[in-house]
Amino acid sequence: MRFHIMTLFPELIDFYMNISIMKRAIDKGLIEVYSYNIRDFSENKHKKVDDYPFGGGAGMVMTPQPIYATYKYIVDKFKIEDPKVIYLSPKGKKFEQKYAYGYSECEDLIFLCGHYEGIDQRIIDLIVTEEISIGDYVLTGGELPALVLIDSIARLIPGVLNQEESFQDETFNDNLLEYPHYTRPREFLGMEVPEVLISGNHKKINEWRKEKSIELTKERRNDLLKKRENNIL
Ligand code: SAM
Repeated sequence: MRFHIMTLFPELIDFYMNISIMKRAIDKGLIEVYSYNIRDFSENKHKKVDDYPFGGGAGMVMTPQPIYATYKYIVDKFKIEDPKVIYLSPKGKKFEQKYAYGYSECEDLIFLCGHYEGIDQRIIDLIVTEEISIGDYVLTGGELPALVLIDSIARLIPGVLNQEESFQDETFNDNLLEYPHYTRPREFLGMEVPEVLISGNHKKINEWRKEKSIELTKERRNDLLKKRENNIL
C-alpha cells in the first residue's frame, strides 16, 4: 500500500516513518510512504504558498495552485485512476477504528495537510474525496492527524505487526475496551498480579478478561456497549 502526503513540512512525516514499526514495515516493503513538499510545486517566484483571505479576517489561506500541481504530479507519476484524497480537517468526519479497516484495503491514499487558517475551498471541492478530523480540537497543522491515520491503517496490513503485536484482540474490537495487562514482576510495590492470570487456566483467564473488558467499557464508554447490544459496527 502506498501513502502519499502533501504537506508544507515533509520532515515531520519522514521523522516518524524512520522509527519503530513504521520503519520496519517500509523496510519489509509492506508499505511505501512518500511525502511531497507543496512549496516545491509553487509557481510563485518566491515559492509562496499562502495568501490573505478574500473578505478579510485573521490568518492566511493556502493557495490552490501548488496543491493542485502536487496532486497532479502524484496521480500522473503513480498512474492512480480513482484517487482517494483525504483532507485532514477539524471540520471533517471524526476518525474511528472502523474507517482504518476500510482504508487499509486501498492501494494508494493521498493525504492533504492544511496549515494556517486552512485551504482554499476550491481545491477541496476539486480533489478531496473525504474530510477527516481526529477529534474535537484544533491543531496547527494536518501532519499529526495524517500520521495518526497512517499509523492506524498501516498496522492493519498483514505482516506489519508481528504476532506479539497483533491487533486481533484489542480496544474497539467488538465495541469493547481492552482488559488490563500485567507483566513481571508478580509483585510490584506491594501490588500483586491478579491470581487468575498466573493460574495457567486459559478458560478462566479468558472469562476474567472478558469480564474486565465489559466492566471497563461500562464504566468509561457506555456508548460502545449500546452499539454492541444493537449489533452496530
Ligand atoms: N481555521 C480552521 C477551522 O477553524 O476549522 C482550522 C485550521 S487549523 C489551524 C490548520 C490545519 O490543521 C487544518 O487545515 C487541518 O489540516 C489541520 N487540523 C487542525 N485540527 C485538526 C483536527 N482536529 N483533525 C484533523 N486536522 C486538523
